[in-house]
Formats: sequence, structure tokens, C-alpha cells
Amino acid sequence: MGWPGHAPYELAPEAGKRLHWLRRRLLSWFARNGRSLLWREPDRTPYEVVVAEVLLQRTTAVGVARAYSGFIEHFPSWTSLSQAPLECLESALRPLGLWRQKTLAFQSLAQSIEANGGAIPRTRTELERLRGIGPYTASAVLAIVYGRAEPLLDVNMARLLVRFLGSSEGAEASPKRTLHALALRLVRGKRSLEANWAALDFGALVCRARRPLCPECPLRTRCQYARSLKLQPTPSADVLSG
Ligand code: SF4
Repeated sequence: MGWPGHAPYELAPEAGKRLHWLRRRLLSWFARNGRSLLWREPDRTPYEVVVAEVLLQRTTAVGVARAYSGFIEHFPSWTSLSQAPLECLESALRPLGLWRQKTLAFQSLAQSIEANGGAIPRTRTELERLRGIGPYTASAVLAIVYGRAEPLLDVNMARLLVRFLGSSEGAEASPKRTLHALALRLVRGKRSLEANWAALDFGALVCRARRPLCPECPLRTRCQYARSLKLQPTPSADVLSG
């Protein structure tokens, strides 16, 4: 599907090939270096997945990792979350950057899901109707809870795509739509969730906003940004390319 509200966007064949290469490299990097985060464990319940995604709205994965277990222990279900005294919930969420409006939205989300018998909606339209669920969190629920090939296009993934591919056709006219199409191509197919996590982790740990680790990056031989820096490829980077 295209970016919500837009017609599907056709990628140039060259962009498709480069994304295919990028995906293979990212998956290989992720197998050795991916972050091991509690909410990614396979036995997490849909409730625990949604809680993590809400907490991640305002805080880094490192910050959420510190608070996640305690939060789940304190509020183990939609019922406990929907019935918690507001002050209690607020004091648990404030250190994670979620202030009163977000706390109210989170409790309202819990109450809506409780009223729905604990079932989490299965479509983007239904999800985005819920208070506290925006486009990114809806994508995360569809991808993680329901196994759909939805790109988790956050700032980390966007930065990686823009740097690696350079400016792409149509990006100036409609950057959001173009980025969504690129991200979808990157994660679609088998191992979609892994490809998403690989891109997020790579953007957070290697292709960082400030001081990206270009000299040691396994993507640098084909990265537009690295080429613009005129980095000299090392023998090991040459072996990795192709
Ligand atoms: S070479 Fe640098 S800019 Fe390119 S993907 Fe790697 S870290 Fe990012």
C-alpha cells in the first residue's frame, strides 16, 4: 500500500536493486549486532508489545529498557492500566517523557481495548481511531502483533535511507511519500520484522544522527553519503560489497 492517503509510488528499478543489497547487508549485520530488547522477545503478549510502542513514542530504546519491566510488573494487563488511579499512572509515565495528555490518552486506549474484550484492532483505520495511536504506532502494531509487512519508518530509518540512497526521484516533490515507498521496499517479503529492526538498530548505532561511523560501516562502499565524503574503501569493506 502507499503512504496513507496517497496512491502507490513506483520506485525506479535502480533504487529497487540498491534496496535489495541494503536489506541483505542489514540483515547480516543485525544477526551479529542487533539490540536485544525485552519487548522484542518472541513470547511477548500483544499487550506488552503495544505498551512498549507507546512508551517509545517519547523516549529512546535505552530509556524505555530501563523502565519497561517495572512498568509491566506494575500494570500487567489492559484491565490494570484502564483502572489505575491517574496520578499513579502519571508518575510512572512522567520519567519517560509522557505527560498528562499522553497519560490520559494511554488510559483511554486501555479502556477502549478493554471495552472491545481485550482485542486489538487489526486494521490501520480502526487503530488510528483509538486515542494514543498515531500512524507510526499503528504500523508497529500491524507489523509486530499481526506480522504484516509494514515499515517502521522513524527518524533512524529515514536518516539511513536518505544517506544511503542520496536524493531519489520524486523526493523533492513528495519526500514523505517517497521515503515510505523506499522503506516499504526495504522491509517487504520474508523476515519483514527483522528487516525493520535491523534498519532501526543500524540507524541508532552506526548511521547515527551525529558522527555516523562511516569509516567502519559495512554499507560504505555503496553509500551516497560516504561517497560524498570521499572515504577510501578498506580491503575488508571491499570484500563485503558486491
Ligand atoms: S557509510 Fe556512513 S552515512 Fe553511509 S550508511 Fe554507513 S554510517 Fe550511514
